[in-house]
Amino acid sequence: MKEIHHWIDGKEYKGTSGRFADVFNPATGEVQARVSLATKAELDDAIARAAKAQVEWGATNPQRRARVMMEFVRLINRDMDKMAEALSAEHGKTFPDAKGDIQRGLEVIEFCIGAPHLLKGEFTDSAGPGIDMYSLRQPLGVVAGITPFNFPAMIPLWKIGPALASGNAMILKPSERDPSVPLMLAELLKEAGLPDGVLQVVNGDKDSVDAILDSEVIQAVGFVGSTPIAQYIYERAAATGKRAQCFGGAKNHMIIMPDADLDKAADALIGAGYGAAGERCMAISVAVPVGEKTADALIEKLVPRIEKLKVGPWTAGDDVDYGPVVTKAAKENVLRLVQSGVDQGAELVVDGRDFSLQGYEDGFFVGPHLFDRVTPEMDIYKTEIFGPVLSTVRADSYEDALKLAMDHEYGNGTAIFTRDGDTARDFANRINIGMVGINVPIPVPLAYHTFGGWKKSGFGDLNQHGPDAFRFYTRTKTVTARWPSGIKEGGEFNFKAMD
Ligand code: NAD
Repeated sequence: MKEIHHWIDGKEYKGTSGRFADVFNPATGEVQARVSLATKAELDDAIARAAKAQVEWGATNPQRRARVMMEFVRLINRDMDKMAEALSAEHGKTFPDAKGDIQRGLEVIEFCIGAPHLLKGEFTDSAGPGIDMYSLRQPLGVVAGITPFNFPAMIPLWKIGPALASGNAMILKPSERDPSVPLMLAELLKEAGLPDGVLQVVNGDKDSVDAILDSEVIQAVGFVGSTPIAQYIYERAAATGKRAQCFGGAKNHMIIMPDADLDKAADALIGAGYGAAGERCMAISVAVPVGEKTADALIEKLVPRIEKLKVGPWTAGDDVDYGPVVTKAAKENVLRLVQSGVDQGAELVVDGRDFSLQGYEDGFFVGPHLFDRVTPEMDIYKTEIFGPVLSTVRADSYEDALKLAMDHEYGNGTAIFTRDGDTARDFANRINIGMVGINVPIPVPLAYHTFGGWKKSGFGDLNQHGPDAFRFYTRTKTVTARWPSGIKEGGEFNFKAMD
């Protein structure tokens, strides 16, 4: 059985815990590898080594650090196909989607090439007589990234790029379900010139996460995953004085106004609802048509499109629309929630429960589902399903649709489809959700903007990537300097205004 270990001090480190997690091939259901789960002692050791390496890395000038990022970009592009294959094999997403996963991470590394500009401090000449004031952005030291299974390249890259370009060392604790790509990225960074120890990839589970949270050396934690864990990490990190940004789950609504182009809206819902088997934090899982006529017409357009979806393993070709979900437990959870929707009175318009794929009967495939007449009290509405299940909640008016999305506990992304600029503008202004699409179903901001949800989708006050990431991974020191000519006359003990 293939074993996957850790990356410490620029080379593979074989874990000694004797504890492993299974890594599945989601298309066949077979265990294809096992990943070592680190002990607290191994984690503490990796942190101590990272702290040593950080001293020189933090003192390296920002331009040189940026050059490592520049070379990293070239190497990721060189190995794109190899990494996408490894990603699809462990995650199950299609090959083009795996490349997209890497690409959206790569764009943040490209952005990080400009880090020297973002790390420039501020300077006020002559803030007082003979006094200058300036602010420095200094690295935090050792920081940690804890990442989910659903974007095993993109989210580690969102963490690694800004953290390292800012002069920190990082402990990356990727998802134990698809650990290979983060290790490949660490290898490429070494090839790109990153000094050993600056990035340590430690595989593990709750024990490793708790060791990170309790470490007195780690200064900041960037987490992405489900909401209960995000909240747990945020609270425990804060209790030990760490900076924390923790991004959680989602239930993204798409509002379809009566004036929308319904064919475009239906196409958008298919990609955003079923792409990556619904395992995206920016997936649309709730369609909110406004008015009965819009709802009836939308359902009529969705059904034939859903029936045409091609579900299969990534090896079946680039025309596969989506693959399996990540584990048997994930599949069972989706089917349990679908059953609850039926039991609680939602109308199951497209039923994917009996879906099976010849030759892949033990794979974790889930057929596409479409619910109509879902209500806010139902579990399928309240819960993040993270599977190929789209729920339709019919709204009587724009205000009802807006209120529905606003009242949901999650606030990651949302979209509105309309031809009316006034409605779109009102929606963007009033909605209490972090990322908004106007006739765009998955509004993932580009690398130079920031990414982050509101409400239970994000804990902490700075977003991922964009300028916020550089604020998160640095702390500001402000220096007030005077080189007075009259120092010989003796010290001053009063707190003086700058006049
Ligand atoms: P998860 O919460 O199960 O795991 C995320 C990370 O936390 C993993 O590294 C895992 O090892 C660790 N972890 C798991 N259980 C833990 C525990 N009890 N204590 C400490 N650490 C623990 O999430 P997942 O299933 O890997 O990812 C899917 C979730 O991530 C979905 O809810 C999705 O919406 C969310 N997500 C959010 C965003 C965002 O930006 N808001 C992006 C991607 C995914």
